[in-house]
Amino acid sequence: MFGDCHMHMVLDGVYYKEAIAAHDGHVRDDLIRRCLAGYRARGIRFLRDGGDRFGASMRARELAGEYGIDYRAPVFPMSLRGRYGGFIGRQFENLAEYRRMVGEIAAAKGDFVKIMISGLMDFDHRGVMTSEPLTPRQIAELIHIAHGEGFAVMAHVNGARTILAALEAGVDSVEHGAYMDEACVAALAESRAVWVPTLATVGNLIGDGRYPDDVLTAILEGQLANVAACVRLGGCVALGSDAGAYRVPHDVGVKSEYVLLRRALGERTDDVLAEGERRIRERFRR
Ligand SMILES: [Zn+2]
Repeated sequence: MFGDCHMHMVLDGVYYKEAIAAHDGHVRDDLIRRCLAGYRARGIRFLRDGGDRFGASMRARELAGEYGIDYRAPVFPMSLRGRYGGFIGRQFENLAEYRRMVGEIAAAKGDFVKIMISGLMDFDHRGVMTSEPLTPRQIAELIHIAHGEGFAVMAHVNGARTILAALEAGVDSVEHGAYMDEACVAALAESRAVWVPTLATVGNLIGDGRYPDDVLTAILEGQLANVAACVRLGGCVALGSDAGAYRVPHDVGVKSEYVLLRRALGERTDDVLAEGERRIRERFRR
């Protein structure tokens, strides 16, 4: 069984505010254990968490061994003040503050660094993002600093120009990666980065009624075509469901992501995903 290379212990797949409130101030071992038991029951042995500032992911990492799970976490994810990411992670005002946070992550024995460098997809409007991305220069500096401390970098990033900037800076994994163009897909395939397209975050919304299905279907079809093209060009793709995100429940999220990836990759799915997970396991530890 494949692991989940992108999930969030602190979230519950239903409503992020209530899920976070449950752990805020005092992490709930009962919720974490129930979740880890669910993964174990499905034969899932590897999890890479995007991290949270409430301590849920780090507590899960402590407990995961009891469930036979290899659990990786970045302590907390980071984003620029005022941009997307503040609800779950910590925000820096400038590079000096970012550098101090990377030091804190090292002291807390984080496995890697997670940064948010663009907004979310706006599911009401195709091609639109919820917040302004960082500049290529800012992106290069963030990745350079993390690499200098010996960390691999997991980047939440959407939009062709921003993804290209991250690839040029040597990012280790591209999370989501919506709205790539042909040149961006080719650059990703040529790079050493692993792409985790988190298709379930879009696919599981179709028919939900919260967002227009035509926009969701167009986004999903675009992602499926890009996943197929990336692999055709020799790129590396891994399974990450974004479990905990709206409508992506823990443990069964892996299955829904697998079904969607199979639509793009067909017969090659298992080989491709095994290699993707192998690279993530190898690289995302300090
Ligand atoms: Zn995520």
